[in-house]
Amino acid sequence: MADLETFRREARAWLEANCPAEMREPVRDESDYCWGGRNPLFKSDAQKAWMERMAARGWTVPDWPREYGGGGLSPAETKVLRQEMAAAGARNPLMSFGISMLGPALLKYGTEAQKKRFLPEIARGEIRWCQGYSEPNAGSDLASVATKCEDRGDHWLVNGQKVWTSYADKADWIFCLVRTDPEAPKHKGISFILFDMRTPGVSTKPILLISGNSPFCETFFDDVKVPKDQVVGEVNKGWDVAKYLLGHEREMISGMGLGGTGESLGAALAERLKDDPILRADVARFDVDAMAFRAMSERFIDELKAGRAHPAQPSIMKYAGTELNKARHELIMAAGGSGALEWESERSKGGKAPREWLRTKANSIEGGTSEIQLGIVAKHILELPGT
Ligand SMILES: Cc1cc2nc3c(=O)[nH]c(=O)nc-3n(C[C@H](O)[C@H](O)[C@H](O)COP(=O)(O)OP(=O)(O)OC[C@H]3O[C@@H](n4cnc5c(N)ncnc54)[C@H](O)[C@@H]3O)c2cc1C
Repeated sequence: MADLETFRREARAWLEANCPAEMREPVRDESDYCWGGRNPLFKSDAQKAWMERMAARGWTVPDWPREYGGGGLSPAETKVLRQEMAAAGARNPLMSFGISMLGPALLKYGTEAQKKRFLPEIARGEIRWCQGYSEPNAGSDLASVATKCEDRGDHWLVNGQKVWTSYADKADWIFCLVRTDPEAPKHKGISFILFDMRTPGVSTKPILLISGNSPFCETFFDDVKVPKDQVVGEVNKGWDVAKYLLGHEREMISGMGLGGTGESLGAALAERLKDDPILRADVARFDVDAMAFRAMSERFIDELKAGRAHPAQPSIMKYAGTELNKARHELIMAAGGSGALEWESERSKGGKAPREWLRTKANSIEGGTSEIQLGIVAKHILELPGT
């Protein structure tokens, strides 16, 4: 493994020289994330420089092929890079549905022209995507999507509505599930299509939440004309693409269970635990579970990259990771006492603690609910009877 050690030394030196000090500070809130896009919002010059330097090396997507803007690293090198980034406290340079969801689906199902057109832009953070899956009557039962997509000879014509489309009002493009054959059995008449959110007929409406923060939108399509070459995979076989992408989405969401820096909760809450033996025991139990989850994730991700993963593996990870993240924030709130519940006070760090705690409630819904993940495990691993 001498080569890997050389790579580790080089990566460490490069990160040391190129990651600005400000980008090694822990993320404080949503505005610390860089989402890129056609009109990117950078919080500081350091944030911009960090994203651009990582993109120039292909390290926003280290394991994608170089010809599509990636770093061309092997799975082992990618793991080393992630370890060195964590050791340096380096922030993720780019948050992106393009990287975590659409990219893998395009790499597997896209035409060469689609890969060349979209992947380098995603890698450089130049295009921001949203996910048009859920509809008012198609969430868990996603294959019930009704958004109509008609073949009009030289273009597709899309009409319908999506809901819970995170950041639709900020996205440049959408990846979308549409019904291309209303007569076919429901899984067989779906296609996976991409289009620009500026296309005439696309509109979004924010959905407000009690927390005052909301990424959500309703998204409407009214006679939206889409070029013929923007369907990914075969027409009417979009369900395969959708499921593959969902596996990646669930793997990404499960990452919340890792809790960012890897610092134990016991260490983070040490001061508060001194005089509370019950909380102390709860936190110790949590930290043991967190260590077990970290080890499981590492193994699962290795298996996934090597193509040896069981198809239900992302469901196990999503379920376990989101339960863990919810438990983490329950304990943080418990340790914070009544002060942690204050909405905009100094004691609650400007409302950071309660907002994050409330946000975790959505973890077991987004990307497919916990009941659905457990249903998949029951069917495909435990082979229990049922639908
Ligand atoms: C924070 C967040 C972000 C999101 N972002 C997006 C996005 O960007 N794009 C997008 O397309 N969607 C997004 N969603 C929507 C999300 O994917 C759906 O909310 C989710 O798939 C559940 O669907 P539903 O809300 O229609 O619930 P329903 O399907 O109506 O389910 C309601 C309840 O019934 C249970 N249930 C349903 N069917 C079964 C079954 N067969 N067995 C057992 N229990 C069942 C569910 O588990 C759930 O508890 C987001 C959701 C959240 C919370």
